[in-house]
Amino acid sequence: MKKTITDYNYNGKKVIIRCDLNVPIENGIITDDTRIKESLKSIKYLIDNNAKTIILSHLGKIKTQEDKSENTLYPVYIKLREYLNTNVYFSRETRGESLEELVNNLKEKDVLLVENTRFEDFPDKLESNCDEKLSKYWASLGDIFINDAYGTCHRAHASNVGIAKNLPNGIGFLVEKEITKLDEILNEDTHPYTVVMGGKKVSDKTLVIDNLITKCDYLLLGGGMCFTFLKSQNYNVGKSIVDNDNLIYCKNLMNKYRDKIILPVDIVTNNKNIREISSISDNEIGFDIGPQTIELFTDILKKSKRVIINGPMGVFEEEGFSNGTKKIYEIIKEKHIKTLIGGGDSAASVNKLGFANDFFHISTGGGATLEYLSGTILPGIAVIEEK
Ligand code: ADP
Ligand code: MG
Repeated sequence: MKKTITDYNYNGKKVIIRCDLNVPIENGIITDDTRIKESLKSIKYLIDNNAKTIILSHLGKIKTQEDKSENTLYPVYIKLREYLNTNVYFSRETRGESLEELVNNLKEKDVLLVENTRFEDFPDKLESNCDEKLSKYWASLGDIFINDAYGTCHRAHASNVGIAKNLPNGIGFLVEKEITKLDEILNEDTHPYTVVMGGKKVSDKTLVIDNLITKCDYLLLGGGMCFTFLKSQNYNVGKSIVDNDNLIYCKNLMNKYRDKIILPVDIVTNNKNIREISSISDNEIGFDIGPQTIELFTDILKKSKRVIINGPMGVFEEEGFSNGTKKIYEIIKEKHIKTLIGGGDSAASVNKLGFANDFFHISTGGGATLEYLSGTILPGIAVIEEK
């Protein structure tokens, strides 16, 4: 078990907490502050326990000097002041005297938000390359380090892995919740265990498939990626999205796990025609799974004891192609099937289609969750001390 935020005494201590405050901002306005709200639990815990809280986060990517003005955390600072009933300060510098002065002036319960850690990526990529000097410098500003940025746990950056190597450390409430939920559903011994995969490309998902296929009872395939599988079985998929580099991969997987893998039997085309998979014509593009496939998939889901979903069943962003994805979520809701959903677009589809409260867990980390589902130990978590 990893040490967590509740394993330390914070009275008067300077605590560096790495949060994921990477919110969408348009013209200086935050368009969705979910990530800020979710981070408040750990931040408030530190405040309530009399810490001097130093928050680090990245925002976007910094490749040029201009990127800096577009990716300042200043709007996040303004939001934090709204949400936190305490003194909140902002450091425009990511290192140097003015930052150090702000840190040294902190009193118990004060909060300091430091500017975007990725400002250190231009010009020398110090943050993303986990530069040792930068890591040690940041660590020197605090007494304890808490990692609550689940979405970056698959990266070994200075602001998560680098600092953790140089300070007593633990995970925050968000990271703890994510890994507890993921571990619970991945490791319990209940069957039938069904994995549903869709989304765009096979290449993004082969590691996840390789890890889960050995353990699950069924792998239901939809979305764009089913067309590479269908093509590997010699179906004509018209102009549907195909990942030709992975045709052999799909063919081999089908040969090995033919009994577990369930492919669509019909699809909805770009012109909203329903086609059996053997009658897709050359100019058609598959954009959703068809009604017979929905029935086939829901029959399997109904009897499943646990389900993991990664990737929508169709182009859910367009109403005409969201039905497959929606019907899968409906059966999960109706039958209360223990279901974890992971992937950035998958999480977005659940919210968009109105099922945000109907899952055992909606994992917030896109890339991090994919790596977790692949069986990888995330570096941002691996570096944290054991209890
Ligand atoms: P996640 O982020 O959940 O891992 P992906 O990024 O793999 O999911 O895929 C999500 C995208 O896949 C969505 O934008 C969706 O429109 C697209 N998609 C789903 N089905 C198809 C399809 N049949 N053809 C092309 N794109 C598709
Ligand atoms: Mg995606």
